[in-house]
Amino acid sequence: MRDIICGIDLGTTNSSIAYLKDGEAVAIPIDADQALVPSVVSLDEAANTIIVGQAARNRLAAFPEHTVRAIKRQMGQTTPVSLGGQQFSPEEISSFILNHLVFKASQVIGQKIKQVVITVPAYFNDAQRRATIKAGELAGLEVTRIINEPTAAALVYDYVSFQQETSSPYIMVYDLGGGTFDVSILEVKGEIKEVLASCGDTALGGDDFDDRLVNFFWEQLTEPLRGELSLNLATRIRLRDIAEKTKITLSDQPFCQVSEAAVLSVEGQPLNLNLEIKRREFEELAKDLVERTAEKVRDALGEARLQPQDIGKILLVGGATRMPVVQDLLKEMFDRPIYHSIDPDLCVALGAAVQGGLISGEPLGHILLDVTAHSLGIRTVDEIDPETGEADYFSTIIRRNTRIPTRKAEVYFTVVPNQTMISIDVYQGEKPSCQANVAVGSFDFPLKSAPAHSPVIVEFAYDKEGINYIIEKAKNLLSEARLPGELKNDLNRLVGAYEQALVAGEEDKDIDALEDELLATIEDAEERLLGLG
Ligand code: ADP
Ligand code: MG
Repeated sequence: MRDIICGIDLGTTNSSIAYLKDGEAVAIPIDADQALVPSVVSLDEAANTIIVGQAARNRLAAFPEHTVRAIKRQMGQTTPVSLGGQQFSPEEISSFILNHLVFKASQVIGQKIKQVVITVPAYFNDAQRRATIKAGELAGLEVTRIINEPTAAALVYDYVSFQQETSSPYIMVYDLGGGTFDVSILEVKGEIKEVLASCGDTALGGDDFDDRLVNFFWEQLTEPLRGELSLNLATRIRLRDIAEKTKITLSDQPFCQVSEAAVLSVEGQPLNLNLEIKRREFEELAKDLVERTAEKVRDALGEARLQPQDIGKILLVGGATRMPVVQDLLKEMFDRPIYHSIDPDLCVALGAAVQGGLISGEPLGHILLDVTAHSLGIRTVDEIDPETGEADYFSTIIRRNTRIPTRKAEVYFTVVPNQTMISIDVYQGEKPSCQANVAVGSFDFPLKSAPAHSPVIVEFAYDKEGINYIIEKAKNLLSEARLPGELKNDLNRLVGAYEQALVAGEEDKDIDALEDELLATIEDAEERLLGLG
C-alpha cells in the first residue's frame, strides 16, 4: 500500500484534515462526525491530560486559565503560553492539535498517517513557516510540504467537475475566517499558481461580527438597568456563544428569534435574553467590518495591477463567507454572481490533500459535488421591466452551486393593504428576469388580512430526503397485500428505473419525467387502496 499524505488546515479558529479516497479529496470526521475541529487546547490539571477540540472549547468559560485558542497568532514567537502552572511553546500547543487530528483520522481511515502537507497563510514569514514545520515534527509527523492556504483552495477547484467558465488566468481567493481576513490574487501559469498579491487584516474575522451582536445583546439586556452593570468574562463567553449561533442562523434565515434564559443574574434575579433580530439589522451593525474587507480587496487588485473584470474565478474560503452580506459585497464589486461551491471551511484542507496526492503520485479523479444546478427563486414586483411594463424581477432564494441538502429563507413584503392571498411564482435559472428563466410552478397561499408591506417569509428547501421520501413511499405501497398485481408491477418497474437514473446521474429532465410518472402511480395506488379499504 502506498503511504498516504494527508492535508491539514491548521486554522486560527478551526482545523481539519483530509485525504484522497479513491482519487477524491474528502475531509475526515474527527469529533462526533464533525470534520471541523476547534483549534482550542486545554490542560486538565487534575488528570494531567491535554484536551483538544470541541471538548477544550467547552472548557473556555470554566477554565480560562487552562485553555488557549487562536495559538496560530503566536506561531513564530518565543513567548511561552501558560496553561495552569505549566508552560508550552506555541509550536507545542499546535502540535497537540496536529496530534489530535492525525490520531483520530488514523482511527477513522484505518491506516497510520505519517506524512502530511500543512497549509499556512500566504503572508506567513519564514519563522512562522518554520514553527509550523516544528509543530508537525513534535507531533511525530513528516511535514512533506508547507503550502499557502489560497493556493490550496485554488488547487481543489482544478479537480472539481463543474467550473466557472473563464479564460482569465487570475483567481481571487477571499478568505474570511474566525479571526483573520486574507485576500489573495493568484496567477495560473500552467501547473503553477503564483501568488501575485496578498493583503488582509490579522485582526478581522467572524469573531468581530459576533462581538457586534454581543454588544447589541448586552445593551438590550441592561437597558432597563441603565447600564449599571459591567460585562464579566463568564457572561461575555456565554453571550459570544449565543451571538455566534445567531449569526449562523442569520446566514440562512432573514431573522432569528433569540431566547436564552438566565444569561445574567442581578441581585439574585435571573435576566433573560428575549428578542428578535433581522438579518438586515445585523448587517447594519457590522457594515464597517464588511467595508474593511472591501478596502483590502481593492488594495490587492491594485498591488496585482488588475481591474475587477480581469479576475476569472472568485473563490470564497472561510466559514464567515457563508454570510450573504459577503456574497452581496463581491457581487457588487465584481458585477457578477458569486457562488459558494465547495465547503468554504473545508476547502483548504481538501486542497492540501490534493497537494499530498500530487506529491505521492496518487491518481486524482474529479471531485463530485452534490450541488444545486440552478438558482431557485421567485418573482417579485421590486422592479418593473421597462419594455413590457410588467414586474418580472427574479429574486434568488437558493443560489446555484449551493451544497445540498439546504434550506434557505427570504423575507418579502405584501404590496396592498388587506391582501388575503399571495401568489408565489417559482423559477429556476440565472437570469435577472423571470421570463428568461424556467418556470417551476405557481402556488397561492391565503394570508391573514394585514396592512400593506407586511412581511411574508418564503422558505425553500432542496433535500436528498425529498427523493428518498418518494422511493420510501413507493416501497411501502409495494408491500401492501391488497394492491392489484399490475399496479405492483408498474410501481416496481418505476422504482427500479428511478433509482437507476438517480445513481447514473441522468439528465434532470429524464429524472423529472420518471419522477412524475412514479408520483402519478403512487397516487393511483393510494386511491385504489382507499377505495378498497
Ligand atoms: P479559521 O480559518 O480562522 O480557522 P474558519 O474558516 O473555520 O476559521 O471560520 C470560522 C468562522 O466562520 C467563525 O467566526 C464562525 O462563526 C464562522 N461561520 C461558520 N459557519 C458560518 C455561517 N453559516 N454563517 C456565518 N458565519 C459562519
Ligand atoms: Mg482558515
